[in-house]
Amino acid sequence: MEIGIVGGGIAGLSVALALHKQGHTLRVYERRAGPSTMGAGVTLWPNATFVLHELGLMEDVGAAGGRPSAVHRKDVAGNSLGGLDIKLLDQIMGFPTYTILRRDLQAILLEHVARAGVPVEFGHRAISIDLDTSGKAVARFQNGKSICPDLIIGADGRMDSVARRFVAGDNMPIYQGFVNWIGVAQGNGALVDKVEIHDFWGSGDRFGCVPIRTDLVYWAAAQARPSPEPIPAADMRKEIMDLFAGWPEPVARLIKATPALSLQLIAVHDLEPLHTWRKSNVLLVGDAAHAPLPTSGQGACQALEDAWHLARCLHGADDCLDEALLHFAAVRGPKTTKLSEQGRMFAHGLFATDPETCRIRNERAKASDRLRDAQAMAEGWSQGLPMASCTETAPADGAGSLYRL
Ligand SMILES: Cc1cc2nc3c(=O)[nH]c(=O)nc-3n(C[C@H](O)[C@H](O)[C@H](O)COP(=O)(O)OP(=O)(O)OC[C@H]3O[C@@H](n4cnc5c(N)ncnc54)[C@H](O)[C@@H]3O)c2cc1C
Repeated sequence: MEIGIVGGGIAGLSVALALHKQGHTLRVYERRAGPSTMGAGVTLWPNATFVLHELGLMEDVGAAGGRPSAVHRKDVAGNSLGGLDIKLLDQIMGFPTYTILRRDLQAILLEHVARAGVPVEFGHRAISIDLDTSGKAVARFQNGKSICPDLIIGADGRMDSVARRFVAGDNMPIYQGFVNWIGVAQGNGALVDKVEIHDFWGSGDRFGCVPIRTDLVYWAAAQARPSPEPIPAADMRKEIMDLFAGWPEPVARLIKATPALSLQLIAVHDLEPLHTWRKSNVLLVGDAAHAPLPTSGQGACQALEDAWHLARCLHGADDCLDEALLHFAAVRGPKTTKLSEQGRMFAHGLFATDPETCRIRNERAKASDRLRDAQAMAEGWSQGLPMASCTETAPADGAGSLYRL
């Protein structure tokens, strides 16, 4: 089958790799002029590394990434609010958790896509998708080019997906009441003692520190804000320093060790779950289909899962494409919807400003049980994948897992 993929992010490139292995003819169309160096990092939980292993990428991910052993939650006075035993989670799920810079993950995916001989056409911004007289979808690009392959895969992200506009009629992302500042701290020596994640909870604000190595740590600071409109700061680093002044180390150390140019402010949006991901021969994947909040910790992981499932659904489906696309959405819909709902629920608790709500939230976190949490997360995240912890009846809720990074 001839397949055009609109969007060369984590979803688009991993889908290209998975479908290439099935013998399809692929081409990726990306609006950027070249490889992306944007963003900070992502945590690849075991459900994602299962897929990366299947795609043959784990050696490269292992070389570029870090192996965190634990998450430690703390309040702004440095008191423990419990945490997560990542080693235990990895053991239950049978695959390792890795942290990695987003640009390194993108580079690995691109390298493997190039090795597979799949062309990536940069500088191709899709502006519309419509149907030709035979009812087949045509994607049109700003540079005047258009494509009409057997299948168009919309992997063009959450903020203004042309494919989602075509499939669902609306592609408006929803601001969820908080902003993120993200950055990558690079030290001459160690910035943190161990490759362990630290997650500090305040009242309407949060600071998460995610090491890849002890001298390389990406972080995300967050604050509840009623409006997504950016408030321009003359000096963004100073603004963050002031906002998080007095928070436990390594917060100030990491902000100081972050080059000003790498700082980015994001008004955090998600998308309403859809009841359909396809129209005609166009299918949505990744954030364009299901964009959970970062508080779900699963956006990139779910994009990777899409690649694995889609390859299975399309296997031998040249003559029954409609059924295969419907099957894909039926398989992926419930899990991704559940994770999106959880992301919202977690954000609601995390960015509460009322002191009593924060106190109850912290007490609940402190009382959580590490074994039960790891088991619940493993059950939810492995759902639908042939992993050790997957059971047919497992709910995709990971109920005990509080406010993941
Ligand atoms: C602050 C933050 C932290 C996060 N942390 C994590 C984490 O720890 N773990 C995790 O699993 N997930 C995390 N996520 C979520 C994760 O980054 C996304 O879910 C993931 O990148 C989705 O991949 P995607 O390919 O669908 O979208 P994207 O990565 O956004 O890629 C979309 C691509 O499409 C291109 N594109 C867009 N429009 C067009 C167009 N019109 N024509 C052609 N190309 C187009 C874009 O340039 C881009 O390359 C985080 C998100 C945020 C905001």
